[in-house]
Amino acid sequence: MGVLYITHDMGVVAEISDEVTVMYAGQVVESGPVAAIFAAPLHPYTRGLIRSMPRLTSIPKTRLPAIAGTVPAPQAYPTTCRFAPRCPLADDHCRTHAPVLEQHAAAHAVRCFKPGQPS
Ligand code: SF4
Repeated sequence: MGVLYITHDMGVVAEISDEVTVMYAGQVVESGPVAAIFAAPLHPYTRGLIRSMPRLTSIPKTRLPAIAGTVPAPQAYPTTCRFAPRCPLADDHCRTHAPVLEQHAAAHAVRCFKPGQPS
């Protein structure tokens, strides 16, 4: 039996899923096995979601890291990289071209011109 579970909580994903598909502004930005994505997230949005997870080692009463900015309205989705307005790695190429979803490794795909680059 397969179960589709939709959440913003990556902690829940890590607990219950074998495979994860990360979507941003209506597009798949990264997909693959949970273990591979948590070990080495390739898309800046995925890294932002994982960074914002509360952890037992988090310092009490401190703010969790957040992804700056807001999701655009569907009628205002950029025709280039949809995450570019919020991405710390965005450059002129990202703001003028649209990345496609590409296989990075077996069963691990990402939509980004700079997969895996630290952000
Ligand atoms: S393509 Fe560029 S702007 Fe879009 S997520 Fe990747 S680095 Fe960021």
